[in-house]
Amino acid sequence: MTGRFAPSPTGDLHVGNLRTALVAWLAARSRRGIFLVRMEDLDRVTSSAEHERRQLDDLAALGLIHDGDVIRQSERFALYHQAIDHLTDLGLTYPCWCSRREVREAAAAPHVLTGHYPGTCRGLDPQALADRASTGRRPAVRLDAVAAARHLGMGELVEIHDVIAGRYQTVVDDLVLRRNDGVPAYHVSVVVDDAAQGVTEVVRGDDLLAVTPSHVLLQRLLGAPTPRYAHVPLAVTPDGERLAKRHGAVTLADLAQRGVGPHDVLRRLVSSLGITMPPGPIDVWGLAERFDLSALGRDRRPWVIRDL
Ligand code: GLU
Repeated sequence: MTGRFAPSPTGDLHVGNLRTALVAWLAARSRRGIFLVRMEDLDRVTSSAEHERRQLDDLAALGLIHDGDVIRQSERFALYHQAIDHLTDLGLTYPCWCSRREVREAAAAPHVLTGHYPGTCRGLDPQALADRASTGRRPAVRLDAVAAARHLGMGELVEIHDVIAGRYQTVVDDLVLRRNDGVPAYHVSVVVDDAAQGVTEVVRGDDLLAVTPSHVLLQRLLGAPTPRYAHVPLAVTPDGERLAKRHGAVTLADLAQRGVGPHDVLRRLVSSLGITMPPGPIDVWGLAERFDLSALGRDRRPWVIRDL
């Protein structure tokens, strides 16, 4: 059993991220599994080594020790390009020249599924391809989801079984696999790395549930196994907004300034999971012995933080 936590080092982790990390850690350790940390630093502009160091320090402050070396996606681009090129060789991708704005405008058409790519660049004839290529604009690479599903002999509606969310299905979109600046997309890197690292259980934020069927489709195309998924409800403000730095004291550093130390935060996180603890220091390894991921239940309601 191998679990992982895969933050993007673009800032300090907030209590919602830390709670997800805690669940991922407990889930792995409760079954004496391996727990890995992977830095998802594909975006070289917003990621930094300083953020990475602070995130690792925060995990350590809560006692969430990881195994092995931390891997960085920025050092693994060649693997992701290989996977994208493989899909291209199978005839399952196409170049896309659309700008964000063009996608947004075309996606407003009534026949397009909400949030989905409207298919403007799919199935272009050779003349149209040549015209677009002659603009000198670099194309992104998109997955041809219909062709991919057909290749696998399945429908476009992909279903998953999530430990927390239960049965969830969606039609897979024509995802961007490689951005037009040449950077591989998260959807590829996450699938490649989970497979390469032998991850058998993915515990992550509920915001990624909607793209998980796409990850499953990519796993099948790349011959990778599908891990068990558990999407942990997000932390929100009393107004229902997704927790962010601007909302107040939401990181370990902010809370320490208010006199709330890592142990108090850990206690709060544990209690938010419905686990009652006797007073005194919390031993996370002891907690792991009695932890049962499936006992968290099927409650997808977000974790409302009131004292911001
Ligand atoms: N790097 C992603 C994030 O920080 C998480 C990806 C994952 O766990 O699959 O939101």
